Amino acid sequence: MRFGNLELYLVNAGTFMMDGGAAFGLVPKVLWERELPADKLNRVPMAANCLLIQGEGQRILVDTGMGTKLSEKERGFFSLADDGGLEAGLAKLGLGVGDIDIVINTHLHSDHCGGNTKLVDGKPVPTFPRARYWIQRREWSDALYPNERTQATYLASNLVPLSESGQLELKSGNVRVAPSVECQVTRGHTYAHQSVIVKSQDLVAIYLGDVAPFTVHMERIAWIPAFDAEPLETVETKRSLLRWALEQHALLIFGHDTRIPMGYLQREGDGYRVEPARSW
Ligand SMILES: [Zn+2]
Repeated sequence: MRFGNLELYLVNAGTFMMDGGAAFGLVPKVLWERELPADKLNRVPMAANCLLIQGEGQRILVDTGMGTKLSEKERGFFSLADDGGLEAGLAKLGLGVGDIDIVINTHLHSDHCGGNTKLVDGKPVPTFPRARYWIQRREWSDALYPNERTQATYLASNLVPLSESGQLELKSGNVRVAPSVECQVTRGHTYAHQSVIVKSQDLVAIYLGDVAPFTVHMERIAWIPAFDAEPLETVETKRSLLRWALEQHALLIFGHDTRIPMGYLQREGDGYRVEPARSW
C-alpha cells in the first residue's frame, strides 16, 4: 500500500478481550455499549494493530502486540486469538524478523511491546535481531520501576533483553526517526507516550497508539480509558491532535480498533466523526 514515497502496512498481531470499563473509564456503560457491545464478562474486543513503514532504505515497525510469551492461563484471561501473531503477519508481506531495522514502541504496556522479545530455550531474547528499539527514556524508567498500579503491565521480560543485547535507543522528547518519520510525545496515557507521524509528498498519517485506542476516543474528547496515567493531559493532547488532524487531513491509524483501524477526521455538528479509510 503506497503512501507517497513509502509503503505502509497494518499488521494484526492478534485480537484480545479487555474489560469495557477499563477501555472507557468514567463513561457510563449505557453510553459506551451503544458504540461497542460487551460480552458476558463485560469485555470488548481489541485488536493489536501494528504498523510497518517501508521505504527510504529502512523497515520500521511500530508496536509489537502481546507477543508469544504468555502462558496458556494468560492467553485464556485475554481470550487472545492471534493466528500466528506478528511474525505470521510479517511473513504474509514476505518479511522475516531479520528484515526489521527499527522498532518503535509508543509505550511499554504489555499489549504494545510484548512482541519485542520471544522465548528461546525458555529465556526472553529480542525478537528482531538487527533492530534498534526506539523508546522514550521516561517511559523506560517508568516501566523498569513500576508501582502497584502499573506492575501488571510493565514487564521486565519485554524490556531487559533489549538493553542486555545493546539494541536499545533511548530518546528524550520529539525525535526524527527517518526523513519521513518522526516520533512525537503525546502525553496522557502514560507520562511519555509517543505517537508516530509519517509525512510523504502531500500525505500525512499518524499512528496514535493509546492516545485514542478506538475511533470513538478521538471523536469524543472526554472518553478516556481508565488506564490513563494523566487523563486531563490526555484531554489536552487530544484537543491539539484533533485540530492538527483536521488541518493536515491526516490519516489516523488506531492501535486497537477492530472495525475501523484507520480513517479521516471530519467535523460533524459541534463534534467530530472518523470516516473509515479502506486504503490510503
Ligand atoms: Zn494498548
